[in-house]
Amino acid sequence: MYRVKEAFYTLQGEGAQAGRAAVFCRFSKCNLWNGREADRANAVCNFCDTDFVGTDGQNGGRFDSAEALADHIAALWPSDTEGEGVKPYVVCTGGEPLLQLDEPLIEALHARGFEVGVETNGTLPAPAGIDWLCVSPKADAEVVIHDCDELKLVYPQPLAPPERFGFIRARHYFLSPMASPAIPESGADPVKTSNTRRAIDYCLQNPRWRLTIQMHKIVGID
Ligand code: SF4
Repeated sequence: MYRVKEAFYTLQGEGAQAGRAAVFCRFSKCNLWNGREADRANAVCNFCDTDFVGTDGQNGGRFDSAEALADHIAALWPSDTEGEGVKPYVVCTGGEPLLQLDEPLIEALHARGFEVGVETNGTLPAPAGIDWLCVSPKADAEVVIHDCDELKLVYPQPLAPPERFGFIRARHYFLSPMASPAIPESGADPVKTSNTRRAIDYCLQNPRWRLTIQMHKIVGID
């Protein structure tokens, strides 16, 4: 049984695949927070801005088999791209998608022509067959995935400074400014103390890291 909060067709808004059309499949549940506001303060990850509880979102639901969920995802991809040689793309996200994504589902998606992308917190092993793996470490949670396509770190996180993740091999290293307002500093210019400014400064001082911003929120893509 796969539980999906929501699924929708949109453009990827961040990272190396930014701007690419994709079906987003948001799986229910996360292993670093139960999604209840009352428990946020004591959760391992406590800055989440995503509703991943239940199966009641747009195109959400429970799916008895990999074939049924793959059919559901494929139906959200526009059918008229086949002749253009455009590879359908699905981004499995959450919550934490690796609580549910398994090889049978990846194979079922491949059988329908999809490239399979995953956005994970990196604390669970990844099944074989993923085409694009993005690891986004959170707080002091142990990361068990040491090879990926993209390391995307929300910045700043006091327990997850970029230097902690030098052991992870990735094709791309991104800092994503935390979406919270500026960190308050008495009398300071809020722009110059914003998380975005801090991420810019870090990338300037450490050119291995690139800035990524949440384009979908800025331009209003759902
Ligand atoms: S790991 Fe991701 S999905 Fe889970 S609580 Fe943190 S930000 Fe939300």
